[in-house]
Amino acid sequence: MDAKLLEILVCPVCKGPLAYDKAKQELICKADRLAYPIKDGIPVMLEGEARQLAADEEV
Ligand SMILES: [Zn+2]
Repeated sequence: MDAKLLEILVCPVCKGPLAYDKAKQELICKADRLAYPIKDGIPVMLEGEARQLAADEEV
């Protein structure tokens, strides 16, 4: 994913920064423990599409 794009993206819930998980192709908000999917290189920045991180999941 484009690093420039990652810089401008924020979590739609808390407006906080996101971490890029290259292996899972997800953008992680550590504050909300939500993972936003990246589909075909396009981040899906919708709370309804986000995955809740498991309690034991590394972020
Ligand atoms: Zn957030």
